[in-house]
Amino acid sequence: MTSAAHTTDVVIIGAGPVGLFAVFECGMLKMRCHVVDALDTTGGQCAALYPEKPIYDIPGYPRIESLALVEKLAEQAAPFEPVYHLGSPVTGLSRADGAFRLSTAAGVSVAAKAVIIAAGVGAFGPNRPPLPGIEAYEGKSVFYLVKRREDFRGKRVVIAGGGDSAVDWAISLAEVAERVMVVHRRPKFRAAPESATRLESLARSGGIELVIPYQLSGLEGEEGQVRRVVVADLDGKTRALEADCLLPFFGLSMNLGAIAEWGLNLERNHIAVEPATCATSVPGIFAIGDIATYPGKLKLILSGFSEAAMAAHAIYPLVHPGEALHFEYSTTKGVPARS
Ligand SMILES: Cc1cc2nc3c(=O)[nH]c(=O)nc-3n(C[C@H](O)[C@H](O)[C@H](O)COP(=O)(O)OP(=O)(O)OC[C@H]3O[C@@H](n4cnc5c(N)ncnc54)[C@H](O)[C@@H]3O)c2cc1C
Repeated sequence: MTSAAHTTDVVIIGAGPVGLFAVFECGMLKMRCHVVDALDTTGGQCAALYPEKPIYDIPGYPRIESLALVEKLAEQAAPFEPVYHLGSPVTGLSRADGAFRLSTAAGVSVAAKAVIIAAGVGAFGPNRPPLPGIEAYEGKSVFYLVKRREDFRGKRVVIAGGGDSAVDWAISLAEVAERVMVVHRRPKFRAAPESATRLESLARSGGIELVIPYQLSGLEGEEGQVRRVVVADLDGKTRALEADCLLPFFGLSMNLGAIAEWGLNLERNHIAVEPATCATSVPGIFAIGDIATYPGKLKLILSGFSEAAMAAHAIYPLVHPGEALHFEYSTTKGVPARS
């Protein structure tokens, strides 16, 4: 949907898994939603960062690929006819006549009785290594995420970093790539212990080459095509790795953008909420999913689902003042828009 002024019950910032499920939970309570996202696709981190990875801790799914999960969430939300405004970050939030008015960089404006912030880690982008001229290679032979594992079949891949993404992708790409080299500053990896052990065992069997202790120092190539990744050890001694592509995995930069200016109680870039309702310090604004914090918070998709349900129940009286909300199971009432 493009620029225009809209009115709805609830406006949701973030179309990640948690924002999508919030559409369903609001819908079950007769509340219509518009959803705004900076990315040009729904699915948040699942779609943008690890679409082909299986997730194992979604209740009822022993294993589900990340992209399949968000597709199912969008399908579950669809009967409630959410309106998506994708590809544009939120820029402002004001209050007038008892309603919130949210605006986006694309000129969309949505008036709503309540706001749910499901903005995950904020509008996210990769932490780029400071290599001269790297921009010329980005999207051609330097990638900050793996969209399709098959794209790396038969390639010589250099992975840089020591966290979960670097280790998991090294293990996964070792099955398809001609060669995988992992550049890391220290011998120890900050990944899940079983993944780190698997990486080390692959390195011992020759499936992966560990380039340690080294860090990225430069790129050589032409017309966007990397030919060599230059790495330097702690004494500055360099080595050139013949490669077809570089995958730097140095985490995400997190940018709350305009959300940080709305007077919400922030704790280290997260929004502090009241755990039973997900209410923020500003009445009418709720926060759920990765962005919300409270004592004991677990940053898991399943926690976000539960928070979506709690926020929807807390929002109900704002949208339907004076109407009693009788708690009902979905098995009792079905999906209202379908019945
Ligand atoms: C590699 C990896 C593996 C993972 N594996 C698991 C797992 O196995 N199990 C599990 O439970 N969790 C896992 N996670 C974590 C899981 O992906 C997150 O908990 C989940 O995505 C949080 O969902 P969310 O909807 O709160 O936020 P997100 O998925 O981050 O979505 C937030 C959305 O908000 C948008 N947004 C942010 N700021 C703005 C703004 N200012 N304006 C407009 N839009 C904005 C973003 O563009 C984004 O689309 C994994 C994460 C990674 C990176």
